[in-house]
Amino acid sequence: MNSSPCLKLVFLLPEIANDIIEKLEKEERLDLLEQVQELSIISLCECGDTSCGSFYTIEPSVTENEQLSHEGLRTKSGLIEVFNGEIGFIEIVPSEIGKEVRKKISEALIREEL
Ligand SMILES: [Zn+2]
Repeated sequence: MNSSPCLKLVFLLPEIANDIIEKLEKEERLDLLEQVQELSIISLCECGDTSCGSFYTIEPSVTENEQLSHEGLRTKSGLIEVFNGEIGFIEIVPSEIGKEVRKKISEALIREEL
């Protein structure tokens, strides 16, 4: 797990984090809410769309395990995907916001590699 503060969702993308928090509060999902402050961005979605801002908060390979329970919660900008009770993927549908999110994440990931 990458624990660098630069890749923490709440620091890097506060607006997206707020979106998620708002939704989870509305749904009264305390089990998921308590994860948000600690979520770190692991990698970007690899669909190839340059305006897709979706990203992983757990190892991408875990999300491919079809034996895990899987649920999705709609947000303003996309979808929160939960795998076995853990927030694992945040979908930000291709849009201007998505483009911006992708840019911020790729810059942060590059900084991490230096
Ligand atoms: Zn994508």
